[in-house]
Amino acid sequence: MLDMAAQNAPLMARLIDKAAAVIRSGHYILGPEVEAFEREVADYIGVKHTIGVSSGTDALMVALMALGIHAGDEVITTPFTFFSTGGCVARVGATPVFVDIMPDTFNIDVEQVASAVTSRTRAILPVHLFGQACDMEGLSAIAKKHDCAIIEDAAQAIGTRSPVGPVGALGAYGCFSFFPSKNLGGFGDAGLVTTQDPELAEKARVIRAHGSKPKYYHAVIGGNFRIDALQAALLRVKLPELEAWTEERRANADRYDAAFKSAGLSESLLRTPTRCFDGHVYNQYVIRTSHRDALQAHLRAEHIDTAIYYPVPLHRQECFASLGYPEGSLPVSERASAEVLALPIFPGLGEARQDRIIDAVVSFLAQVE
Ligand SMILES: *Cc1c(COP(=O)(O)O)cnc(C)c1O
Repeated sequence: MLDMAAQNAPLMARLIDKAAAVIRSGHYILGPEVEAFEREVADYIGVKHTIGVSSGTDALMVALMALGIHAGDEVITTPFTFFSTGGCVARVGATPVFVDIMPDTFNIDVEQVASAVTSRTRAILPVHLFGQACDMEGLSAIAKKHDCAIIEDAAQAIGTRSPVGPVGALGAYGCFSFFPSKNLGGFGDAGLVTTQDPELAEKARVIRAHGSKPKYYHAVIGGNFRIDALQAALLRVKLPELEAWTEERRANADRYDAAFKSAGLSESLLRTPTRCFDGHVYNQYVIRTSHRDALQAHLRAEHIDTAIYYPVPLHRQECFASLGYPEGSLPVSERASAEVLALPIFPGLGEARQDRIIDAVVSFLAQVE
């Protein structure tokens, strides 16, 4: 799915020099490399304030804690996402309220968000899934009307633009991840909180370091959510390459789209991902097919890696059984879980490898019926 070694190879000398410089500096947590990275990535994203943290999951924890979301509160979110989106809501003691997604974009259904608002709703937590922005105009209108916050889960969406601006700058907080498989991947775990509001930025910064301000005085309870200097320093080497990598992801998506369209297969056999805005960054290229499991097995036999994001939507996870969402309660998400397949899209995939994947997908699906 991802050839990390090939992506890092051209940068290797600079990465090793940077790592050595950090090791020699004796400064391993926060500090000047982190501050420089926070400024550079703020410019790239197009947001005023950034707070480097220990992971994308911890970015969500910091945002929820900084907004004071706690037991008795409800947070409306999508079940079709990575676990931590819903997991973090539960970890602060609040109740995740899952609503269904749109069948074309896999992003949260704004009309369902509107009908799920109650007097306990404190926040809406949309996920810009696979790198495509949610309908932020619609969500902002609901948040404004009901006086609740928006936390953007932008873990898969660094650099994503929406018609109303860059993701991460459109809610109270944006949360990003530098997990190795994300578009800007670190060398271990790291993440980022973003905000346009200086007071919210300060709150997040305090929560990041145990809630201490000044040191050893705690007006609020935080955690150890700090980013390592080493991760920040190495991410600074990769950040200038990100725009070119994203362009390559888009070009790969265009080639898949064109090839699959010209194959002329029926909708149920093969649906390519819908692109609503030009600002999609394609963290994943996810097709739908009614023969998903058979296709994946065929591709595996051909030594082609694929992945299923996500096989079980959060409302059907065992740990959330007590929330009481029976099978069939969020049918669009459940159906997506049975039909989605992510194909390799990473920069460096190359036309020859991509053509082999396209041929394998099309030739298999053309003979199943
Ligand atoms: C990756 C991811 C996260 C979590 O990020 P980590 O850095 O792995 O903790 C959260 N939400 C979504 C949608 C993700 O894809």
